[in-house]
Amino acid sequence: MKKIVILGSTGSIGTNTLDIVTKFSAQFQVVGLTAGTNGDKLEEQLRQFKPAVVALSDELAAVKLRARCGKFPVEILSGVDGVAQVAQLPEADLVISAIVGGAGLVPTLAAIRAGKNVALANKEPMVMAGPLMQEEARKRGVRIFPVDSEHSAIFQSLEGHRREDVRRLILTASGGPLWDLSKEQMQDVKSEQALKHPNWKMGAKITIDSATLMNKGLEVVEARWLFDIPSRQIDVLIHRESIVHSLVEYRDGSVIAQLGLPDMRTPISYALQYPERMPLELPSLDLADIGKLTFQRPDHERFPCLSFGYEALRIGGTMPATMNAANEVAVAAYLQEGIRFSDIAEVIQTTMETHTARDVRTLEDALEADRWAREKAGSLVHALAR
Ligand code: MG
Repeated sequence: MKKIVILGSTGSIGTNTLDIVTKFSAQFQVVGLTAGTNGDKLEEQLRQFKPAVVALSDELAAVKLRARCGKFPVEILSGVDGVAQVAQLPEADLVISAIVGGAGLVPTLAAIRAGKNVALANKEPMVMAGPLMQEEARKRGVRIFPVDSEHSAIFQSLEGHRREDVRRLILTASGGPLWDLSKEQMQDVKSEQALKHPNWKMGAKITIDSATLMNKGLEVVEARWLFDIPSRQIDVLIHRESIVHSLVEYRDGSVIAQLGLPDMRTPISYALQYPERMPLELPSLDLADIGKLTFQRPDHERFPCLSFGYEALRIGGTMPATMNAANEVAVAAYLQEGIRFSDIAEVIQTTMETHTARDVRTLEDALEADRWAREKAGSLVHALAR
């Protein structure tokens, strides 16, 4: 039986993971769960899955949960330290990293440093401190299994092939909910529209990232470090149907892709039981029913955020962490209707232009850049606020 910890158990990836655990309960034991503020959902989960320890990063939510679960045999920790403690549980075999945003860096790195294999859904830590995460994983013999659907597709398409034969990684992008709009139409798009993703049901932050294509910018950086491949060998391809989840081109001209219906349980299950494939019994992919698959070049003019990922990698050091933090601040402001849709890219660009990149040698280097960028982006958002 595999003993698992889920960081971010109340989010979209967390609940999908627990859905798999419920169906295959003989294979998994949940030993730890963490969430941000959603104490109600965490309470439901802890009563169902009975982990020994849980943590809420929000202190007040933890106080309330403790009051409600007084007699239940579970330890309830709180704060960033509490979450990091659950990430390092001695009995855990695999840590599912599914926190939203940069908040996942400290606990995910803590899990790696504790020698835990990681199923990585939370891409931002890899963006903020990719080389550091990989170095720590190498030192401890830790494996990082991608959960992000594109990276899982690449991981699967690399299996059984020689790394030196790879010519290119091709990340597919759905184009998100606003692909058909003009630049002018996009400027003032309301969040209800930007939150309507055509193919994937995901949390709010990543859905807005899909609308700006910042998600793909982040994924380029994620792929660069996950697969240790230079960014000039990473391309993006718009594929509206989200059936081809990504591709690998080899030097003999062969292209290997992974296809499937857009359902996160496929990449999650592959990371959970690698190299085994779990009998999920999802509906079959009916290509005749779909009829045709379409592909287009990305549009950097309407979607400048895609270029930011490449630019951040070109400059290197703390620049990707800066880009990520500015994006998080801008997206939060947009969702609270503080800024316009087109301001998101503006805020990220200006923050990056103002930043002087330094090397990321330690966790603190990444966190310092993150703090700096949040402050900078915060002041830009404040100036733009209507
Ligand atoms: Mg993805």
